[in-house]
Amino acid sequence: METPAINQHNKEEYPPMHSAEHLLNGEMARRYGCGRAFSAHIERKKSKLDYHLSKPLTDEELRSLESYVNNAVNADVEVTEEYITQSQAMKRFDMSRLPEGASDTVRVVHIGQYDQCLCAGSHVNHTSEIGNFRITSSRWQDGVQRIVFKLDR
Ligand SMILES: [Zn+2]
Repeated sequence: METPAINQHNKEEYPPMHSAEHLLNGEMARRYGCGRAFSAHIERKKSKLDYHLSKPLTDEELRSLESYVNNAVNADVEVTEEYITQSQAMKRFDMSRLPEGASDTVRVVHIGQYDQCLCAGSHVNHTSEIGNFRITSSRWQDGVQRIVFKLDR
């Protein structure tokens, strides 16, 4: 089953951080069925993503997510883009979050076989450019799981 797969961005973000966000979002949606982060603060030094989860992630789960992203980084896969029409996108993705007035053509960003989603942001060309992904803290409160991460480059 395809999971909700839209990253919305109003401003340019630091491409390595934003690309790491794609990888983590894709895996969170697959593992937990929680969709992609509903709130994101992506910055060069440190980023935060929030997900709706009914219980906190364990340390083991967090380490496993970290390993997943680093495996994708170490695999050094290519990031590619594809342009499709909105009607094609409706069949492949959850379009509930497409903004009003979005263009007829939308862009799908693929990170190898790791993730695909609709996104207008800026990305690395190859995953090795992301650097080592490290979850530095996490917090769960009232059904919201926050994951804070840094990149060591
Ligand atoms: Zn993106």
